[in-house]
Amino acid sequence: RPVVVWIRSDLRISDNSALTRASRIAVADGNPLVVMFVVSPNEWLEHDMAAIKCRFILHCVSALRDALALLNVSFVTLTAASRRDVPQVVCDAVVRLNANRILWNIEYEIHETQRDKKVTKLLADRQIPSTACHDQCILMPGKARTKEGKVYTVFTPFKKTWITILQKDPSLYKLQPMSAPLPVASPALLETITAISTGLPTTVPQPFEAPSQELIDFADKMYPAGEANARIRLESFVKARIKGYKNDRDSPGKDLTSRLSAYLALGVISPRECLVEALNANNQKFDSGSDGAVTWISELCWRDFYKNILVEYPRVCKNQPFKLETDNVTWTTDPESPLFKAWCTGHTGYPIVDAGMRQLLAEGWMHNRVRMIVASFLTKDLGIDWRLGEKHFMRHLIDGDLASNNGGWQWAASTGTDSQPYFRIFNPTLQSEKFDPAGSYIRKFVPELKGVLGKEIHDPKGKLGLPRIAKLGYVAPIVDHKIASQAFLEAFKRGIGK
Ligand code: FAD
Repeated sequence: RPVVVWIRSDLRISDNSALTRASRIAVADGNPLVVMFVVSPNEWLEHDMAAIKCRFILHCVSALRDALALLNVSFVTLTAASRRDVPQVVCDAVVRLNANRILWNIEYEIHETQRDKKVTKLLADRQIPSTACHDQCILMPGKARTKEGKVYTVFTPFKKTWITILQKDPSLYKLQPMSAPLPVASPALLETITAISTGLPTTVPQPFEAPSQELIDFADKMYPAGEANARIRLESFVKARIKGYKNDRDSPGKDLTSRLSAYLALGVISPRECLVEALNANNQKFDSGSDGAVTWISELCWRDFYKNILVEYPRVCKNQPFKLETDNVTWTTDPESPLFKAWCTGHTGYPIVDAGMRQLLAEGWMHNRVRMIVASFLTKDLGIDWRLGEKHFMRHLIDGDLASNNGGWQWAASTGTDSQPYFRIFNPTLQSEKFDPAGSYIRKFVPELKGVLGKEIHDPKGKLGLPRIAKLGYVAPIVDHKIASQAFLEAFKRGIGK
């Protein structure tokens, strides 16, 4: 009787908690191991998943299937018509396979938690045990708390405790290899697998916007599928760029961050492996030594922090603000509003904002500094609901991740975990001058401004005048930053009763 692992957003072999545990059980008992993956294109649509991300998932699943085959692990792909059908589809397959147990790694979002509860119940009714493993974070959600057992709602104290716990117990991030090779599946089991496997879809759902050929070409080159490629990316980043990360990470024109987010979002590489590599490059130190490694480890901690917030405050999965007192702030909520459309397509007249929004469309990714700038602009200059921005990002990001995306958006909108008060408002022109001083990032994504060589690139209307920018084919600013941000402040204050 096989042991089954249901793979979801953990598309890798190395240091995969459920797979490691299952492989040990299978080897010890002399049983074969079967890995199962369920495709539900409607679920992807319901969760606003970007078509480019769906495509990347399918490529990474294929790479995983091939790598597992070399270890005698059989792979089953199943299809569910909708999210609600997934539990029954999984249960039926486990029964057909005559499995003796099933394991999976926990996905913490609310729909996924409900789904897993249902599967567990359906299987329990059939006397088939299921085991859910913690795997997605370096430190399990809920572990880093204050001395009084309270949840950290601000990043810096969370990080301090996160580091203390990990330093005290390095076994928490020790990499867990899979036991292999596995016992070979019997012909009867292989026959059942063939009978129930539906295969992977050859096309991905594209209701929102079909990815352009430019985007597909870019993604195929930038994000080769599979964990071997993710590892190459990690190793080359640590070797060549982690040292300079503290200084370089805020320069979108240099593009020197790791670009591992798409792999981490799908679990193609383990976050613990990322941590171990960074520690190896920094004499095993978390918070001293090379500034670059320390800062990068801090980014991995941000990822854990937002997952922790999502687990502790599930309301953030339900379109609710983290700070409940901001629930009455009035935002523009019309997705058809011309201001929202101008922002989505990168035609706001603020070059750094337009460059970011066009990078998102061209690459399915945006530099972190620019994500913060465009999110601040949408909410605090245009007064548009952060939830519209969050959704637009999900529909276009190859690294879309509910916890980090929601966390980033709510941080920018001052409804989230930012320790600074709501009157922190990014000035897009000053941000541009500071973080893209030579304007190389803007020129790359806003071709209308390619010929603008000096500082004028950050503020074309102010420095060149409207007739010149019209001649270049660039748009005039759709709002005046000073006036718009003042209006936001008044509206926000009214909303929170100040
Ligand atoms: P690096 O700078 O090399 O960092 C390494 C890893 O640390 C990243 O791959 C990522 O997993 C993690 N990380 C870095 N910064 C953050 C952060 N601020 N929050 C959480 N994790 C972080 N990240 C996503 O993975 N998915 C999203 O959907 C997402 N949406 C965002 C939306 C907004 C409005 C903002 C401000 C940030 C968002 N981020 C998101 C965080 C961050 O922008 C990306 O993780 C980062 O740009 C990815 O590039 P990289 O892999 O080169 O990162």
